[in-house]
Amino acid sequence: MAAWSNWSGSVRATPREVARPRTEAELAQIIARAEKVRVAGAGHSFMPLVATEGTLLSLSELEGGVEFSADKSRVWAPAGWSLAKLTAALWAEGVSLINQGDVNPQALAGAIATGTHGTGAELGSISTFARAFRLMLADGSIATCSEQENVDIFQAARLSLGLIGVATRIEIDVLPAYYLEEKVESHPIDAVEERWDELVANNRHAEFWVFPYADMAIVKTLNPAPGEGALNRQNDMDDRAFRVICDLCAALPFLTPSLQKMIVGPNVRQRRVGPAYQIFASDRTVKFEEMEYEMPRSAGWPALREAMAWIKKRNLPVTFPFEFRTIAQDDIWLSPMHAGPCLSISAHQYAKMPWRPFFEGIEPIFRTAGGRPHWAKRHTLTAADVDALYPNASRFKAVRAAQDPGAKFANAHLASLFVEGT
Ligand SMILES: Cc1cc2nc3c(=O)[nH]c(=O)nc-3n(C[C@H](O)[C@H](O)[C@H](O)COP(=O)(O)OP(=O)(O)OC[C@H]3O[C@@H](n4cnc5c(N)ncnc54)[C@H](O)[C@@H]3O)c2cc1C
Repeated sequence: MAAWSNWSGSVRATPREVARPRTEAELAQIIARAEKVRVAGAGHSFMPLVATEGTLLSLSELEGGVEFSADKSRVWAPAGWSLAKLTAALWAEGVSLINQGDVNPQALAGAIATGTHGTGAELGSISTFARAFRLMLADGSIATCSEQENVDIFQAARLSLGLIGVATRIEIDVLPAYYLEEKVESHPIDAVEERWDELVANNRHAEFWVFPYADMAIVKTLNPAPGEGALNRQNDMDDRAFRVICDLCAALPFLTPSLQKMIVGPNVRQRRVGPAYQIFASDRTVKFEEMEYEMPRSAGWPALREAMAWIKKRNLPVTFPFEFRTIAQDDIWLSPMHAGPCLSISAHQYAKMPWRPFFEGIEPIFRTAGGRPHWAKRHTLTAADVDALYPNASRFKAVRAAQDPGAKFANAHLASLFVEGT
């Protein structure tokens, strides 16, 4: 038995066995003999997606490398590689991912299994880039699926929470390598609201962070630009001072509102240019817990304002900012971005401080706004909610039941949502 914990420390498990197969043959043997199996990527999910008392797999050491299509518009990549390893290897071959989120330790398969996304009105989640999967099924056999082959398995695998099979390789769309210019600026939140549509329309990527007790927001835009040599700073923001403030707030929570007003001054103006994969990803070294809902674009601002007011009314010590992003709609069965361009609001709390009362208080605001949660982040959906929110939930469940009738790949949390009769 080995102890396992997710990145934030909020999910702990003691799997009977932790296995790091090097070949598909070894993986097939492990899956065939195991009663219960979960695969861990980098453990960056806040929900107990990976937790198991059975066999916990890591595919980070599975053999294989990248293989490009003839025109280099697609690449087959090892599912267990981290986005950091993958994007560096792709850059060396002259290509980039279409979009990325804030960090890059996640495994490619882990990011795709949960619909991980960045920001950009016309850009879908990383799951939308997936063109084909090589999956090991519950009996140890291999299935390849794509828009042409095993189509139902493919549709379910595009955002599967690891319930359909173990992905060993994934084919994804890529773009010729590009550089990005990043601008990080502080602006009054009211001015950001006034200019939001323009910011979204005029930038490939636009997002902002706002602390519940502050009047200033930090706006970040990214746009393709000519390269300017090596990066002068590795991170979008320096979080050393922020860590000190979070620790102070944890010790003396009543200081939170006043300390928070000092974090973002009016004159932040930063700019850097670098390879897209280095600009997208930053280190997030101050640990937090997170809830995120994706909702119709028009519902975003009212929901954000209401959530901020809810916190202020209770004087709740919430030390982290909200993050506000856009995502293109998609047609993936379990995607929160299914059939509607989305606005995403992430709520964070310092990992050392209570987060449940805060998340429980604002979740109804996001639900009323028509929101669906990010599967990897804190939510309290029930099986009935899943059926009500996802028009294709029954199709997903039918593929899951057909491919894994014994629910070998389900843990307690996922069984309660997706395995009929649980
Ligand atoms: C600091 C931080 C920043 C983040 N930033 C963003 C962001 O900007 N945007 C965003 O959308 N999300 C973000 N997230 C959430 C994160 O992207 C997701 O939780 C993602 O799933 C984590 O990937 P992972 O490799 O750690 O997967 P894990 O959490 O380890 O696993 C996630 C799921 O993938 C499954 N899985 C993993 N490997 C396989 C495989 N080979 N085959 C089948 N299933 C598999 C697991 O079983 C599990 O169900 C962030 C999280 C953190 C902690």
